[in-house]
Amino acid sequence: MAFESLSERLSGVFKRLRGKGKLTEADIKAAMREVRTALLEADVNYKVAKDFIAGVTERAMGQEVMESLTPAQQVIKIVNESLTELMGGNEAARIHIKSKPPTVLMLCGLQGNGKTTHAAKLGKWFLKQGHRPLLVACDIYRPAAIDQLQVVGKQAGVPVFTMGTEKPEIIAKKAIAHAKDYGNDIVILDTAGRLHVDQALMDELGRIKEAVEVDEVLLVVDAMAGQDAVNVAKAFNEAVAVDGIILTKTDGDTRGGAALSVKAVTGKPIKFQGTGEKLDDLEVFHPARMASRILGMGDVLTLIEKAQDLQDEKKAAETAKRMMENKFDMNDMLDQLAQMKKMGGVASLVSMLPGGNKINPDDIDEKVFVHIEAIIHSMTPAEREKPSIINPKRKRRIAAGSGTSVEEVNKLLRQFEMMQKMMKQMKKNPKAFGRRLRGM
Ligand code: GDP
Repeated sequence: MAFESLSERLSGVFKRLRGKGKLTEADIKAAMREVRTALLEADVNYKVAKDFIAGVTERAMGQEVMESLTPAQQVIKIVNESLTELMGGNEAARIHIKSKPPTVLMLCGLQGNGKTTHAAKLGKWFLKQGHRPLLVACDIYRPAAIDQLQVVGKQAGVPVFTMGTEKPEIIAKKAIAHAKDYGNDIVILDTAGRLHVDQALMDELGRIKEAVEVDEVLLVVDAMAGQDAVNVAKAFNEAVAVDGIILTKTDGDTRGGAALSVKAVTGKPIKFQGTGEKLDDLEVFHPARMASRILGMGDVLTLIEKAQDLQDEKKAAETAKRMMENKFDMNDMLDQLAQMKKMGGVASLVSMLPGGNKINPDDIDEKVFVHIEAIIHSMTPAEREKPSIINPKRKRRIAAGSGTSVEEVNKLLRQFEMMQKMMKQMKKNPKAFGRRLRGM
């Protein structure tokens, strides 16, 4: 979710406020009008935007703000808190796992919104947490849907229960019995989708809920549909009582309207967001972190979690040790690049840094990193370990081998030298190094 223009608009509003010192009621009112327009342009539901502004204005007009020494900061703080509240509050909404297994989750939603993909993503996510999930094919109308679930289930390493075109409620019942027999503690039902909300679909979901004990109904909605996604969520919630929302395709949603309004309109929290087509592209939805991303304050916590999730801790410790011993070489650099790629590439990492939302991802040339990798791959083991032996003749060979130029090889070698110098300094005088970094 990029929220690019919303972030930009809000940072413009706050910059003007900061320039004013003391704020008058008129200043706050003018700023709030701009925030309201920005929200509407982000495709936020009209009533949600109106109520939001009313709440923020009331708080901002309060004495603590008007009389504070930094009124603009106070207003930003109120907007931050209110955005967090709007999306569900400080705590991320989690799935409650029952002490008596299995916990049964029913995924529902319109066709094409990402239900089957997210059944597998969730399965993989639970698997990583040490659970033993089971996916269940309850979409009996499209034979391709069963095949698709089997394919993604296999990719995720999660077993899939199928019974062909048997009635969905019977499949669900048998699947739960199977889960009990085989020790699966989480059952994820992938139900049928339709192109539009219709009664037959709601009746079918209702029959499944009557036949088995569903612990959570999770609605899968496509963030890119904006307000339509919110309307769909409202209809599903009224018909089958949803417990939580999985907001998918947030990677393709630049406006963020669904993320901002769906909780306020339906009363149901977003529990997860889908951030890409790959099965690892699933994140717990943290309203507070999302609010600070919108306000350009970055989302360093998610960044750290991603790194922790992927970094092999032993390897990270080894790299750190090698850095401290001045042994960091081109092989280590290659490892670091691979890690970065696994974390979703440079553009996605930058977007989570404070101020990173101001950088257009299209301006980040991921090809540079592909070139660096190619250059290192074209080096011999001796060259990788000791780049100082790379003379002009070797440079020409490496450039030719990697399909790059001698200038690019030179540039990489210079960067590497600089990194080594920095590491030496860090070792010699960690405190001064810290001061230098902070000053950067
Ligand atoms: P279903 O009909 O609801 O089961 O939808 P599918 O799971 O078949 O997904 C429809 C399409 O959306 C597929 O091409 C998926 O790869 C794609 N998709 C699903 N989730 C995401 C996501 O979070 N991001 C992106 N970019 N694509 C997604």
